[in-house]
Amino acid sequence: MHTYSHAVFTWAVIRYLKREESNAALWGAVGSTVPDVPTLVKAARLLWYRRGEISKEEFKEEWLDALEYYKEPSGKVDLALHSLVPVGTLIALYKVLGLEDKDPHGALLSFLQGWAGHNFLDLPTHADDARPPLWPIVRWRFKSPVSYWDRKFYALPILFVEHGAILVLFLAFLYETYQDTTTQS
Ligand SMILES: [Zn+2]
Repeated sequence: MHTYSHAVFTWAVIRYLKREESNAALWGAVGSTVPDVPTLVKAARLLWYRRGEISKEEFKEEWLDALEYYKEPSGKVDLALHSLVPVGTLIALYKVLGLEDKDPHGALLSFLQGWAGHNFLDLPTHADDARPPLWPIVRWRFKSPVSYWDRKFYALPILFVEHGAILVLFLAFLYETYQDTTTQS
């Protein structure tokens, strides 16, 4: 799934579940982008260093390509961030240490939940480039029959579903905001 979709979906889910805490949804969205940061940084750096060698058009094209970046998992940091082991450990620690009291608005918990949610959402949307969800303990990986980017695995219909869902959420948000303003006035 594209990084921005992770952010939008996480934001919507947490906003729905924790209505009183508006910042929690934002922190969840930030957390949901964490696993993709290493690859995005790598892609950005690569493009930046190549900017003198390629034309503006090529640069633009490569950048769009880079947004579908991870054809291949990009190393141990990427694997660790996409595994449920580190983030699951952090969530367990959060509970064990009783950090709820220090985190009254649930910002930290939402951040961790957003991060974990990313890894769950990646399970059904990566085929050949699936990562082991329990790395480094178990190397087994689930190769989904569908992929969000690989056309061999129904990327086109997935693209429509993914962006259709974003559109629906956007319209629902607009409608809600509109309702709020009309009931207030
Ligand atoms: Zn990912």
